[in-house]
Amino acid sequence: MKITTILGARPQFVKASVVSNAFKNSGIKETIIHTGQHFDAQMSDIFFQDLNLPQPNHHLNIHSLNHGAMTGRMMEQIESLLLEDKPDWVCVYGDTNSTIAGALVAAKLNIPIMHIEAGLRSYNREMPEEINRVVTDHLAKLLLAPTQLAVECLKKEGIYTGVHCVGDVMMDAILTFNNRARETSDILNKYKLCPQSFYLATIHRPSNTDNCQRLSAILENLTKLNLPVVFPIHPRAQAKIEQHSLSHYLSNHKIIAIPPVSYLDMLMLESNCCAIVTDSGGVQKEAYIFQRPCFTLRNETEWKETLDVGWNHLVQPENLSDAIINFTQPSQSPALYGNGNACKKIVEILTSKKINVKE
Ligand code: UDP
Repeated sequence: MKITTILGARPQFVKASVVSNAFKNSGIKETIIHTGQHFDAQMSDIFFQDLNLPQPNHHLNIHSLNHGAMTGRMMEQIESLLLEDKPDWVCVYGDTNSTIAGALVAAKLNIPIMHIEAGLRSYNREMPEEINRVVTDHLAKLLLAPTQLAVECLKKEGIYTGVHCVGDVMMDAILTFNNRARETSDILNKYKLCPQSFYLATIHRPSNTDNCQRLSAILENLTKLNLPVVFPIHPRAQAKIEQHSLSHYLSNHKIIAIPPVSYLDMLMLESNCCAIVTDSGGVQKEAYIFQRPCFTLRNETEWKETLDVGWNHLVQPENLSDAIINFTQPSQSPALYGNGNACKKIVEILTSKKINVKE
């Protein structure tokens, strides 16, 4: 069996690190196309180095463009490669422009699509990711959902067949790499951080970075928290902070502003912090898995189950400090994201004699 995987953004490297290795171990031949959406050392190369992710077979180097131009250029090059490669499946992850570019091309070439992390919905179509998810799910033949809630979201859109609830591959990634993170990461030493003595913040969604007032309110309120905040800054946030002349917040003694960190360093920061402030999808889940209170700077989330169990709260910047102080630790933390065998299930489905796929 031949699979062509199309990826290009940080969270996809984390997911592929475990899935690609599962493909390899089961004899599935994989070709990886890296679109280049995330391209620099800290946002891309380091994940390939640290996580045993096979080097991409093709690198398209397409980035820093508006959505239409980026997706269009990706599609053009992906089409040539798929026509040459003729894979049995195209594998896409999550909800980025690389996801939708791969899915649209594969669908038009009649190559079946497997979508890992299918069925996520924020129900906010102003989020570019929401459009990418919806379209990809409607084109995919094999929908690999991380949770039962995702399965229900697909049903609401009339998608019943081809859906498999396999658990979340990010759970597999944590279980695979957490020991290595503990053994090799130097991040706590490097920034002189004691466990449980700092908060961790990540911000990169346009709804938080692109409006000067909103971004300023977020940074201002981070400086008001009772402990220092480690803030690995995504390139989009960094660019917007500079563009909006907000760099002075980064020299405030309460903010430890650092470049984006490796996944292994991130696991150490997440598992040792007091609480997490974020607008990331993946980080909300990781906070839950590490049983860290999470405060999500958004109006809604596609990871709704983390809200339902009480470990995650949607907050506005001005309420952040109060929300953290008033947080009550829930008594329960059920295994929302599976037991770390999502990759195994995906491979079993792909190699089974009779796969349930969408017509
Ligand atoms: N991450 C990382 N370094 C960082 C920030 C995040 O390795 O400095 C990891 C994080 O642990 C998670 C993934 O990147 O596995 C989440 O990616 P991101 O927040 O960029 O995207 P989203 O999940 O919102 O799509």
